[in-house]
Amino acid sequence: MSSLPEKIIRPEILGLSAYHVPPAKGMTKLDAMENPYSLPASLREEITRIVADVPINRYPDPFAIELKDTLRTALSIPSGMDILLGNGSDEIIQIILLATTKPGAKLLTVEPGFAMFKMIALFANIEYLGIPLRSDFSLDLDAILATIRHEQPAVIFLAYPNNPSGNLFDAEALEAIIKASPGLVVVDEAYHPFAGKSFLEKLADYPNLLVMRTLSKLGLAGLRLGLVAGRREWLSNLEKLRLPYNIGVITQLVAAKVMQHYDILEQQAGTIKQARARLSTSLAAMTGIEVFPSDANFILFRIGNASQIFESLKQRGILIKNLDNSHPLLKNCLRVTVGTHDENALFCKTLHDLINHN
Ligand code: PMP
Repeated sequence: MSSLPEKIIRPEILGLSAYHVPPAKGMTKLDAMENPYSLPASLREEITRIVADVPINRYPDPFAIELKDTLRTALSIPSGMDILLGNGSDEIIQIILLATTKPGAKLLTVEPGFAMFKMIALFANIEYLGIPLRSDFSLDLDAILATIRHEQPAVIFLAYPNNPSGNLFDAEALEAIIKASPGLVVVDEAYHPFAGKSFLEKLADYPNLLVMRTLSKLGLAGLRLGLVAGRREWLSNLEKLRLPYNIGVITQLVAAKVMQHYDILEQQAGTIKQARARLSTSLAAMTGIEVFPSDANFILFRIGNASQIFESLKQRGILIKNLDNSHPLLKNCLRVTVGTHDENALFCKTLHDLINHN
């Protein structure tokens, strides 16, 4: 009997390790691109009142109409475009890949890129093509266009800015990819609040383009809310795969309230951008560190003995992300999320001490 799961569950799932989230209790948490700031007390009080009155005995609005209206306004979704909401943008990636998978269908993305593209490709059983970036993490446009010609991918996912490198790809190169693609191109703008540039306005120009956003990096990671914007022809079909009540009532009501005060989140993003510039400068001034330019709320850097440095930081209560050995282009690379002024200062001081004692 004990071998029944091995017989029944797909071999590629048996071979997987579950997504690992390291324990972070009591740590200075600079690993997951969260916004370190809380909301102003007055808004928190409003939220408390909303939550106290939430009718949790009833299912949420299956279409989240009020929330969608607020999001459209706050995020300036172009008129004429539809939006679909997900339990985080992770769920939207899953919906898109479930909708497009079939024998012979392929997903193209770049490496190093967002890990969930590859992971969900495997869940959905769609063939995965990961095209390496150049060593400066720019797009290898010739390689991508050649692969598009040979492989005719059904879907292309590109994060703009890219995770884990933090850079915005060249917008013209991205447009060349959209034009050359025989299928769908999804531009994942999870880090848009720290970059400014967007493909939302290009939705009108390209019938095969979708743009994803998330509220996670903006300060609402705990609510789990992502969205994709695009033409009705695409979204009406994706909508069929969305589970009826995927956005809980608390998320709907609280996200709608906070997004009415979007200026607060934008201000916090502005503070994070300023802190990012200071953190970059401090890191670049340390001996033996190569800092990569970032348009996101995190910074990728290369340092000798990266894995050892990562462990030593962890022992001292600072959690960042170790990317050493995760991809050939990320040898000796670590990724730190931009935190508060104090968190960044503590991180820099601790790292500086570690370098000087090595
Ligand atoms: N896209 C990218 C590029 C990301 O880095 C992340 C989070 N790490 C996500 C999507 C997923 O975000 P969420 O599911 O929290 O919306």
